[in-house]
Amino acid sequence: MSSKIINIIKNSKEYSLEIAEHLKTELEKYGYKTTCEFDSEAELCISVGGDGSFLKSVRDNNFPQIPFIGVNTGTLGFYPELSPEDIDFFVREYIKGNYSLNKLNLLKGEIHSEKLKDEIYAINDISIKNEICKAIHLAVFIDDNHLQTISGDGVIISTPMGSSAYNYSAGGSLVYPSLNTMQITPIAPLISNAYRCLSSGVIVPPKTKIVIKPELDYIDSAVLCVDGESYIVNKLQKCDFFISEKTITILSLGTFNYWKVIKDKFL
Ligand code: NAP
Ligand code: MN
Repeated sequence: MSSKIINIIKNSKEYSLEIAEHLKTELEKYGYKTTCEFDSEAELCISVGGDGSFLKSVRDNNFPQIPFIGVNTGTLGFYPELSPEDIDFFVREYIKGNYSLNKLNLLKGEIHSEKLKDEIYAINDISIKNEICKAIHLAVFIDDNHLQTISGDGVIISTPMGSSAYNYSAGGSLVYPSLNTMQITPIAPLISNAYRCLSSGVIVPPKTKIVIKPELDYIDSAVLCVDGESYIVNKLQKCDFFISEKTITILSLGTFNYWKVIKDKFL
């Protein structure tokens, strides 16, 4: 695995360019070759930016099996374990092999539309919403049982790592990252005598299949949002969700403490 090549994937912020240069200099001192063009032979990918950049660096390179770590130059930075001031420490620990590799299962969405069947993968979440300003009506099935119909702005299916993102804004629960679950959370649901759904998120066990099916009148206007990126489908008949066998690998120096991150970044 030791190719001595390291991908440095940065966003376009000036501060990120500066930090990427610092990383490059430090790594080259130890004989590493760094590249900002994605090299599939690399032994490590370092994302320089915030969460958005981290997610994009993994997605744009098609969920490679190369480990990822992030340096946070962004606004929140839940995924990036390192701060810019940790770079020298990181390089020293990395060359000593003082790190662990942790796998994260992706969320898989199987899209069934009028003309196509497609598979999409997410690190945080996949949401289904209405592209126009009307409420959308979505039937929710868990392992082929109809549980509820959500009427409102839409629904979010999130992974544990994604539970602190859109899911949390929509009133969903924080889920510890090592739990193998998905959470279904309505977005601003109508709760009235006309429409009713569970007002909280629902957390399902592994191997569950969640199916979200727009009601007939909404097939034309349903849109998907995958880790914050739009995915336009022509006539979405349904989307099946699973915890995928497919994983990405996060490299950690062991300094990531979930509860500390939650307290520091959310309270
Ligand atoms: P964005 O709209 O810039 O992201 C919204 C915020 O969520 C940013 O501050 C981002 O951090 C943070 N974030 C991303 N993943 C997170 C996680 N797992 N835990 C805690 N916070 C997280 O878009 P983006 O940066 O490309 O991120 C994509 C994510 O945005 C989507 O997966 C979705 O969960 C989320 N989103 C949230 C809302 C909402 O809360 N109302 C609406 C749409 C999308 P950085 O500042 O470090 O980038
Ligand atoms: Mn962002």
